[in-house]
Amino acid sequence: MSDKLNTWIKIQENSDFSIHNLPFGIFSTPGKSKRAGVAIGEFIIDLKQAQSVGVFSNMMIDSNVFANEFLNSFIALGKQTTSAVRERLQKQLCDESSPLKEFNPLVHMDDATMHLPVKVGDYTDFYSSIEHATNVGKMFRDPDNALLPNWKHLPVGYHGRASSIIVSGQDIHRPKGQTKPNDGPPVFGPSQRMDFELEMGFIIGKESQLGDPVSTENAEDYIFGMVLFNDWSARDIQKWEYVPLGPFLGKSFASSISPWVVTLEALEPFRVEGPNQNPKVLPYLEYSGLKNYDINLEVQIEPKTTNSTTTVSKSNFKYMYWNMAQQLAHHTVNGCNINVGDMMASGTISGKEPDSYGSMLELSWAGKNPVKLNDGSERKFLDDGDTVIMKGYCEKNGIRVGFGEVRSKLLPAK
Ligand code: MN
Repeated sequence: MSDKLNTWIKIQENSDFSIHNLPFGIFSTPGKSKRAGVAIGEFIIDLKQAQSVGVFSNMMIDSNVFANEFLNSFIALGKQTTSAVRERLQKQLCDESSPLKEFNPLVHMDDATMHLPVKVGDYTDFYSSIEHATNVGKMFRDPDNALLPNWKHLPVGYHGRASSIIVSGQDIHRPKGQTKPNDGPPVFGPSQRMDFELEMGFIIGKESQLGDPVSTENAEDYIFGMVLFNDWSARDIQKWEYVPLGPFLGKSFASSISPWVVTLEALEPFRVEGPNQNPKVLPYLEYSGLKNYDINLEVQIEPKTTNSTTTVSKSNFKYMYWNMAQQLAHHTVNGCNINVGDMMASGTISGKEPDSYGSMLELSWAGKNPVKLNDGSERKFLDDGDTVIMKGYCEKNGIRVGFGEVRSKLLPAK
């Protein structure tokens, strides 16, 4: 593990955006359009301005990539360039004589609005937490035989909806749809079982060609970075519609992501071993090395009527049974190609303990055990006006790399 670096910028001890992180995002300021930035402490480095004062001298980067309203064209330059940009910034932030210090192309986060970091072409959602899949199987199918026969042989997933992926801070309306009461015909109306799903998403940084699978060994070359991902779910709509082709309108109305994309390079020190996979997987899903990441995750609910926030779940990305390399290898093994900006989400990340479950469905066990909030109220599922906040960070040897948060309020149905 590398030593702690010293920067000339004042950064709070517990900041997610330490000198070791330097995530990329898209921001705007009043009167100035969307552009690319890097987070450091409470500040955003305006990359185009940084380039204009010579921070990236000799790197031959087309400055247009920093002026676009999405990161796609920057990411498409390849890891060689994107990681060199991050390393150059890291160096300059530690160098007292840097033009970054002299010309100060920095914006305070309070003065900026964050936007969707990438134009998402395709979005796939996996189902890769064994604890989550087991809990759902116990509730809806067979308590003694919760996992379906395919689950330990392949990372189950479905094609989601890219158009409704939104950035933190954007509120959503409770969706309407068709549901089926136990004792009557289907009805139409607002979902009565609104839920979050605690997930992480990874963003594709390199395209593959149609017909060419990506191996587990090369998979991480195709991953630019990660975000927090709240995969909003309407459980009652989902329950009625999902047979036999899987999730549809119960999922497609919105998914919220955190605005800062944390690179795989920044997550490198936090690699850990994944769970033992038994039965043995087929050769194309075998992998070597540490492919899981130790990322602490947390979900909070803030009701509309109070300022009190309750932590309802604490989980960790390291629990994932299927890792990102396996997900990508499986996704492409049939020759399906991937593009820069594609989003792959993990599926709900639940841990073993009941307070580490990643959805209200599991936390309240389908509504049987209401969750108590600090203001004295109870939740089986989400109420109108509830704000859901997800946070994530890695910490090791005094070095912290975090994701900030994804926050979104559930408004009443339109
Ligand atoms: Mn999901």
